[in-house]
Amino acid sequence: MIVALDSDAEASAVCRALARRGLWVKRFRDARDGGRVQILVRDGSAAVSVSDLLRIAGVASVAMPEPPHPRLDGQPSSVEVEGVRIGAASEVDPVFMAGPCSVESGEQILALAAALAPLGVRFLRGGAYKPRTSPYSFQGHGAPALRWLRDAADAHGMLVVTEALGVRQVGAVAEVADLIQIGSRNMHHSPLLRAVGATGKPVLLKRGMAATVDEWLLAAETCLVHGAAGVVFCERGIRGFDHHTRNVLDLGAAALLTHVHRLPVIVDPSHAAGRRDLLAPLSRAALATGCAGLMLETHEDPGHALSDGPQALSLEEIATILGAA
Ligand code: PEP
Ligand code: MN
Repeated sequence: MIVALDSDAEASAVCRALARRGLWVKRFRDARDGGRVQILVRDGSAAVSVSDLLRIAGVASVAMPEPPHPRLDGQPSSVEVEGVRIGAASEVDPVFMAGPCSVESGEQILALAAALAPLGVRFLRGGAYKPRTSPYSFQGHGAPALRWLRDAADAHGMLVVTEALGVRQVGAVAEVADLIQIGSRNMHHSPLLRAVGATGKPVLLKRGMAATVDEWLLAAETCLVHGAAGVVFCERGIRGFDHHTRNVLDLGAAALLTHVHRLPVIVDPSHAAGRRDLLAPLSRAALATGCAGLMLETHEDPGHALSDGPQALSLEEIATILGAA
């Protein structure tokens, strides 16, 4: 953003007024404009309205660059999914999403829904189609698991969030899901972003494990341009260099999207840490950012989970975490 000054303006006073609003500024002289002093507002500055800046004495005009994600900028700060508002803690109560990594059977997901709903979990999660690193790992039960998930959620007044792994499954997933998840490995998969957007449903967009914030925002813009009803972001950890945790939970990005971009962010500490013993403190830390809520993998018997057992919470553990939230 470039702030141009009136010819008689006192540049230092304008700079101070901009700095008070949380802007990082740099003065320069524009040779094409008779060497007049102008002020460049740098990346990392707070979000401010142009009308507010125009009220500062000495400011003549404010030139904005083409916004890279106009649809996203126009999205309201909270997204409503079947009557549940997902937005910053300063606006609405935190929303909790929980369930197993993979839906393992109809009985399993029904029993989990029965146990999770009374804890205040609004969204039942579980993968029917699983993105697995090894082709020898359990790949999910597919279409039957979608039905089990929907029936279990309906039986306990919950909503469904589940992943569309590929373009071909989008139709089947959209039939049962209230919120369609795009997984970390697929955040860069434009055809999938377009196809999920075209369903007109809201999207839970997980951050790619090596994606920059700008790439994440533009992936959301793609969903919106193609028709998504809204995008909820999910911070699930980015790749680090240490193996003690599975990923690095980037709460800085969660805070940035929540407070600077005013977007709804659900934090998933399960896939970030990869180990259940860190999920209580990481959940507290996530909620302290003011984010929109948590996604927590939960299993009735984590030691025997078909996928992601080491990071799955038991029902007792999730009850303790949500009881304190
Ligand atoms: C999941 O939530 O089921 C999942 C596979 O997570 P991610 O895409 O973040 O790895
Ligand atoms: Mn998982």
